[in-house]
Amino acid sequence: MKRIAVITGDGIGREIVPEAVRVLEAVEVELDYVYIDAGEGAFKKTGSAISAEAIKTMKGCDAILKGPTTTPLGGGFRSIAVTLRQELDMFANVRPAKSYGKKYGAVHDNVDIVIVRENTEGLYCGIEIDESDDVKKSVLLATRNGCERIVSYAFEYAKKNNRKKVTAVHKANILKKTGGLFSSVAKEISSGYPGIEFDEKLVDACAMLMAKEPQKFDVIVTTNLFGDILSDLALGLTGSIGLGASANVGEKYAMFEAVHGSASDIAGKGIANPASIILSSAMMLDHIGLEGGSRIRNAVEKCLKEGKKLTPDLGGGATTTEFTDYVISKL
Ligand code: ATP
Repeated sequence: MKRIAVITGDGIGREIVPEAVRVLEAVEVELDYVYIDAGEGAFKKTGSAISAEAIKTMKGCDAILKGPTTTPLGGGFRSIAVTLRQELDMFANVRPAKSYGKKYGAVHDNVDIVIVRENTEGLYCGIEIDESDDVKKSVLLATRNGCERIVSYAFEYAKKNNRKKVTAVHKANILKKTGGLFSSVAKEISSGYPGIEFDEKLVDACAMLMAKEPQKFDVIVTTNLFGDILSDLALGLTGSIGLGASANVGEKYAMFEAVHGSASDIAGKGIANPASIILSSAMMLDHIGLEGGSRIRNAVEKCLKEGKKLTPDLGGGATTTEFTDYVISKL
């Protein structure tokens, strides 16, 4: 039986993660769940946001299902997601954004973009320098190996999922060293995939075009910070960040998590949209080679298109549990 490490997390994580587990149980996949305490709650209890023991346990599992965890602004502990992506070398962050119609809050119809974000380098590499009280530096790291593996992952993803185009997004006109390396590696690797269209965009122009004509994008491959920002933009176009599912994949380990954070403004109200983590769990089943992922995606898609039991972020009046019950009824 496959073992899944489950991080319930903070804020709305405590409300939406159990709903994903309920859906997994409803598709009758046999999974052994190992619950891991991590995040702000764990930090307040134990003084550590995630223990070395917890990371060891996760390494012994087949996948990790992670709810959002709160990260303090400025000082305090480091983001759990960033720590795990780096410790477990999960270099590729796959973030699909699909719209289900303007009626339910989507800004544009027919948005179907997959953002492949580099997860371990860029400005998130963790190299920060205190020059003085008034001068701080954060290092933007780019390595050939890091660029090659993320761009190759994006092209392989496109090939496997019958996607037609890959757009490399960077800022190589200003960040001539790091962006330049990313751009030249992307060009090199694209030549090995003649069947897939390739283009490049500067990140600012990309953001503008995504807002105006998102249908022009298919797969986007980009560096860590740009990927973080553009995936929120893409989800905004689909209507709600509550639809944002994601996979973090490396050679050995994989973690599936909602794109959004712990949303303290709506936590405890029972109105968070659980679609993000339910769709993440579907990606997890595909990854570990179990049936059920397509059934879950189809059921969520039916509910979103029907629009009868939507949570308030999509303009409805349903609770988190009512939405999940409706998804389960459509499986
Ligand atoms: P964190 O500090 O943990 O990153 P945040 O509150 O800064 O979290 P997000 O949680 O990512 O940022 O999202 C911003 C807003 O989007 C939230 O305040 C909330 O109103 C809304 N939101 C996020 N996730 C959901 C969801 N699953 N369902 C409904 N609304 C959501």
